[in-house]
Amino acid sequence: MVNEDDEVVLQGVVNGKIPSYSLETKLRDCKRAVYIRRLALERITGKSVDGLPMEGFDYDSILGQCCEMPIGYVQIPVGVAGPLLLDGVEFYVPMATTEGCLVASTNRGCKAIYVSGGATSVLLKDGMTRAPVVRFGTAKRAADLKFFLEEPLNFETLASVFNKSSRFGRLQTIRCAIAGKNLYIRFTCSTGDAMGMNMVSKGVQNVLDYLQPKFPDMDIIGISGNYCSDKKPAAVNWIEGRGKSIVCEAVIKEQVVKQVLKTTVDSLVELNVLKNLTGSAMAGALGGFNAHASNIVSALFLATGQDPAQNIESSHCITMMEAVNNGQDLHVSVTMPSIEVGTVGGGTQLGSQSACLNLLGVKGASKESAGANARQLAKVVAAAVLAGEVSLMSAIAAGQLVKSHMKYNRSNKDV
Ligand code: NAP
Repeated sequence: MVNEDDEVVLQGVVNGKIPSYSLETKLRDCKRAVYIRRLALERITGKSVDGLPMEGFDYDSILGQCCEMPIGYVQIPVGVAGPLLLDGVEFYVPMATTEGCLVASTNRGCKAIYVSGGATSVLLKDGMTRAPVVRFGTAKRAADLKFFLEEPLNFETLASVFNKSSRFGRLQTIRCAIAGKNLYIRFTCSTGDAMGMNMVSKGVQNVLDYLQPKFPDMDIIGISGNYCSDKKPAAVNWIEGRGKSIVCEAVIKEQVVKQVLKTTVDSLVELNVLKNLTGSAMAGALGGFNAHASNIVSALFLATGQDPAQNIESSHCITMMEAVNNGQDLHVSVTMPSIEVGTVGGGTQLGSQSACLNLLGVKGASKESAGANARQLAKVVAAAVLAGEVSLMSAIAAGQLVKSHMKYNRSNKDV
């Protein structure tokens, strides 16, 4: 039964006198706001949201930060793969997914890597980008600004302007592209342990404010001109990198390929050439030279509170396989130029996501060195992708894929 006080507010929302979005501010009680919003929604639509849980969530923690007008939360099971032996350290990898087989398969890849001596990773680059678009009356004026921004003598001043709004955002490079009278300015900056989109956007705004009086004919069209490029497949990220660029490798022993992965080195190498390289080339892939990097990236992103839409560029990956040690063992690597992750900010501070970061030993801001936790998380993402690639490619090479999906990915086990 709805109590009298709640009923008054509920009526107000249903008849449009109280905007649903104002409930948190009006009631100063986030949970009560969710309760009333749900009831109002059910009355307005005549549809029940019974299966969507409401209890057991800290709605204060998302206010003004993660989600507006909450009515509950979606449950996604979290599985664990591992130990994943990476750079001599064991990690247990939390994966939020509803795809049967995915955790089991990644776990098998972790085992193959573990018993072969582990994986090794290298961080190649670390910088988040944002690229506003500005317009001038002529292409010549757009070029004037391009030369001004790319002049090394101006960098120090631009960096100090950019850096003033954050203790961690530090300008690294400015790279411009011109389309007629329009200039796209791609700023790259370090972001500490944050994924850094808000941080870089604030820095960019500082620079635009600084430039405006110097270039009064500059028309700022948008703080994001898509040359960044955020949450869209784009060659600029694949070639230049965005966020963390990582390469991760392992040598899987012949015996392990046979006993754990149930296939052969030759079959894997051949399949990799024909599927991940040639097949993807035939499909006109952009960063998709892999079997299923995005499966592992998405599951880890959801578990650890990353921005799930950034799965698009974060899953860019080329998987290479080669027979080594006289053709006996398998050298496998994944190269991922744009893994966008953080351990502070966004959804990372929420209870369950922060527990998953804690399991990986990368919760919050690094105490030793700013950015170390986020960089470690990116390496774990790449290594987990490596495990996923090894296992799925083996399943395909051994002709097991359809069989195991029928067994583990169907509610009717007899199918
Ligand atoms: P943020 O939460 O906006 O910024 C990170 C905050 O943590 C800053 O206030 C920073 O301090 C502080 N901080 C404390 N210790 C830190 C450390 N060791 N390293 C780095 N920062 C530390 O996070 P963000 O990563 O910049 O932005 C993430 C959010 O942006 C996500 O919610 C994402 O969904 C969203 N997003 C925004 C855009 C956009 O266009 N704006 C696009 C995509 C996604 P300082 O104040 O000193 O910097």
